[in-house]
Amino acid sequence: MDAAVDKMVRDRALNRCEYCHMPQPFYSERFQIDHVVARQHSGTSEAINLALACIDCNLHKGPNISSVDPVTGTRVDLFNPRSDIWVEHFEWAGVQLVGRTAMGRATIRLLQINSPRRSVVRETLMEEGVFPLDDR
Ligand SMILES: [Zn+2]
Repeated sequence: MDAAVDKMVRDRALNRCEYCHMPQPFYSERFQIDHVVARQHSGTSEAINLALACIDCNLHKGPNISSVDPVTGTRVDLFNPRSDIWVEHFEWAGVQLVGRTAMGRATIRLLQINSPRRSVVRETLMEEGVFPLDDR
């Protein structure tokens, strides 16, 4: 990854995961540059197809571009940080991220954003008053 592109992606993301909104400073491992549409699905390495993702989100997302909404059972596209607006699809209910749409619910489930371990981390940060930041 070109250093200038890497920096642009991190700056554009406000240095937080573009899926779960975890800020990089509270995470020990360096966030990864995610191909929103994986290269195996002909996704490019252009900035328009790149997003900043924490290790957990990136690991669970893998090359997937769609998943199943756990409420309706329908197949839907995953949240795309480049074309979808985060607050239209997600909202916080305490430490749990809640999907406001089928896309939001499918993304939360596939990326396991509400796993117990990750929820505990968020709870600690919320108690410290440093999470969540301004959601956009
Ligand atoms: Zn994440």
